Amino acid sequence: MEPLEKLRLLGPATRYEPAEEIGGEGPMDVPSPDLSGCVYQAVMPGGRRIALLKTLLSSACERDCLYCAFRAGRDFRRATFSPDELARLFVQLHRKGIAEGIFLSSAIVGGGLRTQDRLIATAEILRRRYGFRGYIHLKIMPGAERDQVEAAMALADRVSINLEAPNGRRLSRLAPHKVFERELLRRLRWIHEIRRQMHGSRPSATTQFVVGAAGESDLELLATTAYLYRHLGLARVYFSPFRPQPDTPLEHLPPASPLREHRLYQASFLLRDYGFDVEELPFGPDGNLPLAVDPKLAWARRHLIDAPVEVNRASREVLLRVPGIGPKGVQRLLRARRQARLRDLSQLRKLGIAVDRVAPFILLDGRRPVRQLSLWPL
Ligand code: SF4
Repeated sequence: MEPLEKLRLLGPATRYEPAEEIGGEGPMDVPSPDLSGCVYQAVMPGGRRIALLKTLLSSACERDCLYCAFRAGRDFRRATFSPDELARLFVQLHRKGIAEGIFLSSAIVGGGLRTQDRLIATAEILRRRYGFRGYIHLKIMPGAERDQVEAAMALADRVSINLEAPNGRRLSRLAPHKVFERELLRRLRWIHEIRRQMHGSRPSATTQFVVGAAGESDLELLATTAYLYRHLGLARVYFSPFRPQPDTPLEHLPPASPLREHRLYQASFLLRDYGFDVEELPFGPDGNLPLAVDPKLAWARRHLIDAPVEVNRASREVLLRVPGIGPKGVQRLLRARRQARLRDLSQLRKLGIAVDRVAPFILLDGRRPVRQLSLWPL
């Protein structure tokens, strides 16, 4: 099979694998139909946007995860790149200006160790033979050895290993042959340890959960997410809504709701960027977040309505808990109140703060904003 034909099979196979912040709705328009569904606009830390080629090295998986389209025995057209072949193809696309970075994952072929070696070999060829200095995201395979993780981290800008589920009990319902702690979570701990020992630029680390196929609650997902952010320094936890794949054991399950995915991301940012603890999130009795309301707003309705925040005095931490004030807005607000007292909503509006959202929860110079109750019903 020609390399471009392989890419046509293996690139779009990553479409449900969130890996970076993606700008735009989906894959980028590309000059060749062979590359359709393979190149995305990825937003790098700092805001720079690059064209990112996303592909698998192989789809010939020997494992049988219950939800996965690539599971062994499923009938579809599979393909496998050699490291040389993929590196050469990527460099051609890079030289033509089609792709500036690469996200590289793989199904497991010949065991996790051998698959990891092939992923590392591809990145090594790119870096050493072709002198590629751009962005590389490498997957860490279940069961990879520590020296392989180190080698991958020396080559990549980002590494990731998918936990798939928030704990071993839930993982057994998705992938009965994967071992949560020994095969997966331990690799994230190694990544954290290795990052701390590295000097200079260090690769970031991410993971992904499949949401909605293992009976897991939002509380389970977010408790593990909080641990990953606080204790293992992950840059991002991704939530991938379950989509039933024909001819898999979980094909009868309904797809997960995109709104649930959205609420999980909102709550995970509260944990990562807003100083919330998982116990503070507004879970219902079933351990799930309410779908009808943003979790920060739900928290504020319980805690701030009767105790509004004086924006001229409150600390950064308290201000961040007010709906409508985010990490950038709070910086602008702190700067502005050093210059002058904030007395009305128009001053907040000029700072780019969503006044309709903040108004019910704040005091401006000791007073609730004018006409708040009629304008912003709760
Ligand atoms: S190991 Fe990965 S590619 Fe293979 S069946 Fe499981 S989830 Fe799918």
